[in-house]
Amino acid sequence: MDILRKQFLAHLGQTSPSPLMIEVAKAEGVYFYTPEGRRYFDLISGITVNNVGHHNPAVIEAVKRQAEDYMHMMVYGELVQRPQVEYAALIASLMPEGLDSVYFLNSGSEAVEGALKLAKRCTGRSEMVCFGNAYHGSTQGSLSVMGGEEYKNAFRPLLPDVRRIDFNKFEELDRITERTACVIVDPVQSEAGVRIARKGYFKALRERCDRTGAMLIFDEIQSALGRCGAMFSFEKAGVVPDIVCLAKALGGGMPLGAFVASKENMGKLSVDPVLGHITTFGGHPVCCAAGFAALRFTIENGLCERAEKAGALYESLLAGHPDIKEIRRHGLLLAVELGSAERMYTLLERFKQAGILSDWFLFCDTAFRISPPLTITEDQIRESVSIIISALEGRS
Ligand code: PMP
Repeated sequence: MDILRKQFLAHLGQTSPSPLMIEVAKAEGVYFYTPEGRRYFDLISGITVNNVGHHNPAVIEAVKRQAEDYMHMMVYGELVQRPQVEYAALIASLMPEGLDSVYFLNSGSEAVEGALKLAKRCTGRSEMVCFGNAYHGSTQGSLSVMGGEEYKNAFRPLLPDVRRIDFNKFEELDRITERTACVIVDPVQSEAGVRIARKGYFKALRERCDRTGAMLIFDEIQSALGRCGAMFSFEKAGVVPDIVCLAKALGGGMPLGAFVASKENMGKLSVDPVLGHITTFGGHPVCCAAGFAALRFTIENGLCERAEKAGALYESLLAGHPDIKEIRRHGLLLAVELGSAERMYTLLERFKQAGILSDWFLFCDTAFRISPPLTITEDQIRESVSIIISALEGRS
């Protein structure tokens, strides 16, 4: 093992006993390269971050320009910083009426934390309802509303007053009551392996929240900003949430998260107590400049429509293969179900040999993911599919 890999294992806090250990030297478009020049198809986009492709010139230019003007200045919300303001205004312009105030943070977990706090503050209630097999982050608050109990047990006690219900079961919606401050939902259950809501489910959920006064939080951290084939998943669901959490692709490859709510509700975080939610680095000007450039690129290049078409092409090219049991798809976020964890892990190893980076899902290790940058071309889709099929058939 070379020195860099030895130091990686010795000095970098690890998340699993079996990291991928591929060294990255450069990334461009849908590919990344090792120092030896080995090319990999990035079929996960850093877990749905690099929507506009690696090394996107518009993002790089924005980062350079902003870094030269100024970087961190002051804790969030005091000074007027053009990149933050312009980005918040652009996001608000894409949202329906009533979702016009954007609170920037550094990550998805922090966006979830902020959203949960806001819901408690606005309703004066404490119960939080979440869904089985939902992932919302690794901080203690976001972990508390995670739907996988085995990930939580080692870290208890977590937040009290959390109620878990099953996704897609209409009959469980009655468990949302007048005690409930909020319901947090990932509109596509990304980490459960892309589980799509049943027809009418989100409308019923919205109605139940309206009837009980609970706030509806959409965690769109993985699915928004074009990935789902629209700007936001709630557009496809046909409902308007009270709070939307964003992160991942929001920073165009830089760390940025946000929760979005109405001006009136968001205002509650700045009184009783004053400074009810504060952050030093949230909305870093370089990250906001990068995210702004990425979102404009997304709009100007029609990436929402391209994502839908690309996802449909993957689905049609892979459907019917005898080893594939099912394909679950939300825009250009696909779970390819093999029906066996052993087969899935063997396949991922073959992918690695064949120059493809894919991954399994936190709550579903029988499927692998396909979520490349939204800029992927038809030729690249066809090439990656032929590598996938060779690997499925043991020819890699
Ligand atoms: N919510 C969802 C749906 C996610 O997929 C993730 C990250 N995988 C998070 C929240 C947490 O985001 P972060 O890792 O940036 O804290």
